[in-house]
Amino acid sequence: MDSLVEELLMGVVETLTGRNADFAATGAYSDLRLMPRLKTIVIGCVDPRVDPDEVLGIAPGEVATLRNVGGRVTPGLLHELEMLRTVVQAGGGDIGPGWEFIVLHHTDCGITRLEGQPAMLSQFFGTDQQHLAEQAVSDPRAAVARDVAALRDNPRVPGVRVSGLVYDVATGLTETVVQP
Ligand SMILES: [Zn+2]
Repeated sequence: MDSLVEELLMGVVETLTGRNADFAATGAYSDLRLMPRLKTIVIGCVDPRVDPDEVLGIAPGEVATLRNVGGRVTPGLLHELEMLRTVVQAGGGDIGPGWEFIVLHHTDCGITRLEGQPAMLSQFFGTDQQHLAEQAVSDPRAAVARDVAALRDNPRVPGVRVSGLVYDVATGLTETVVQP
């Protein structure tokens, strides 16, 4: 029996905690700090094909990542950024000049399958259904431009360098749609 099938027959959590034991044995965690070493926060989608650590080659401890459906800048995400800023301030720093936000959207995003669910989407975006089209859920390039604009010069996180990327699930490549 191949080892992957054997692992899956054990159950997923048993498999993953076993992998965790392997990770712990490497000691790779021991020098990591709370603050992301690159002073960067990536905002991305939950889609398992677009794990920012994988597709952008991010090493442990380098960036903080917030993921939601679509990698969208929603009221909830802005609230989380504000919470993170407060965490950084509690450590004597601040999220502002010298920090970067990277918004990472992608092709074939599952959020496009929610286009027939305007009530669900309007709640997610904190908007009424008449203005839902402005969120551009079917167009990752337009959506990333919108979300970058929402973060730039946002009074909750002022002075941060913001860029917008779209990852193509067919090629594995990102395109910088909005330059920092
Ligand atoms: Zn997605």
